[in-house]
Amino acid sequence: MELYELTIHELHEKLKKREVSSVEATKSLLARIDAVEEKVKAFITVTPEEALKNAEAADKRIAAGEMDLLTGIPIALKDIFLTEGILTTCASRILSNFIPPYDATAAARLKERGMVLLGKLNQDEFAMGSSTETSWFGKTRNPWNLECIPGGSSGGSAAAVAAQQAVATLGTDTGGSIRQPAAHCGCVGLKPTYGRVSRYGVIAFASSLDQVGPITRDVTDCAIMLGAVAGHDPKDSTSVDTPVPDYLKALTGEVRGLRIGLPREYFIEGLDPDVKKAMDDAIATFRGLGAGFVEMSLPHTEHAIAVYYLIATAEASSNLARYDGVRFGYRNPDARGLLDMYMVSRDEGFGAEVKRRIMLGTYALSSGYYDAYYLKAQKVRTLITRDFIDAFESVDLILTPVAPTPAFRIGEKENDPLQMYLSDIFTIPVNLAGTCGVSVPAGFNGDGLPIGLQLIGRPFGEETVLRAAHAFEQATEWHKRKAAI
Ligand code: GLN
Repeated sequence: MELYELTIHELHEKLKKREVSSVEATKSLLARIDAVEEKVKAFITVTPEEALKNAEAADKRIAAGEMDLLTGIPIALKDIFLTEGILTTCASRILSNFIPPYDATAAARLKERGMVLLGKLNQDEFAMGSSTETSWFGKTRNPWNLECIPGGSSGGSAAAVAAQQAVATLGTDTGGSIRQPAAHCGCVGLKPTYGRVSRYGVIAFASSLDQVGPITRDVTDCAIMLGAVAGHDPKDSTSVDTPVPDYLKALTGEVRGLRIGLPREYFIEGLDPDVKKAMDDAIATFRGLGAGFVEMSLPHTEHAIAVYYLIATAEASSNLARYDGVRFGYRNPDARGLLDMYMVSRDEGFGAEVKRRIMLGTYALSSGYYDAYYLKAQKVRTLITRDFIDAFESVDLILTPVAPTPAFRIGEKENDPLQMYLSDIFTIPVNLAGTCGVSVPAGFNGDGLPIGLQLIGRPFGEETVLRAAHAFEQATEWHKRKAAI
């Protein structure tokens, strides 16, 4: 087994026993990146010098007996996380030369624990998309089939884990951007409860929906990463000041007596037959482990996409107003006068999907339309949230597919934004309700593409979500398959 194939917990054991050094592990990962990156294109920036510097520092810590679970572990971050002194683009031309002066809290917390930073990962521009096709830096490919999308927007984060170019990664999830690429690439991906992880230093897309979370090879690694980044941050007033549980302790393997809901609205006609079969098999596995199932309803599901594309675009139009060619990134050098400079820089700096979102959001917020669109969307968001609150009175978890189909082909939906938007139907409601959900490998289709299972939990119910995901993982073999690349 090569070092680059190990999980966090496996590599940690080897580092602890001094069987390998962090420098050796880091070199293995860097060589792996060199070998496959041309095919996968998961990275925007690889940082070999930073990585080796971090690895040497980690080896010193290990030698001094100051070791944490993440000390010396090679990790990569979505390019939406500010990293001090390291190019951070959010996959946009408008930030194509932006070097942040400080770290995102999530990045800083991993650094404090001694992670080795391998680089910054590709994504959809400003995290707007489901396929990593809108990046200014080119498209990432799915390691299981290079003709397919890796999912998005954290496509680079999922592809890098699947192609074993990083032991683990961080992504962000506004409407599914951790869970959907994790599902399409056969990884574990967790969207924590809104407020569980600080958003400080994470380039904002839709501030009431964005959340930081891990993409990993297995559930144990996911628990380790969540434990490292979760917790209150005085720099993010929406981060919640509740204690961070020991998520590893939650992985007891026990799901007996858990009540799992199957929402009618998610098991609809038109669901891909392979996805449907994977869900049926997963239900049987959970039953075998002693969990019980109940049919239930989340009645406002059908409005989720419309609500999301009003609220997310409204918030994006406001968040993206700051990119004016003056304070950050790209500026057209030939523009005449201030207004011209703003307009030309934004016109050239933003891609088509980002412009579409800014226009939709500006429209939804404009006077005369605000009440009809934005305000109404907020009210329906409350109804969707209540669906979940009501549901969790009688169930502990909700089981659904992550996406209606496995990964689609590159280019297939690129020119059909509505089709692209509709593919997020099973993940978006979780963000609107602000609760947590995990994606776990649950099978493959006939073409060898991974299928993901979603487990949705109560707000701050990450322990239960991870416990069930872990029990399922241990009862199945799906997470052991590796993309042949
Ligand atoms: N695919 C959704 C969108 O395009 C969600 C993206 C995300 O979660 N960042 O907005």
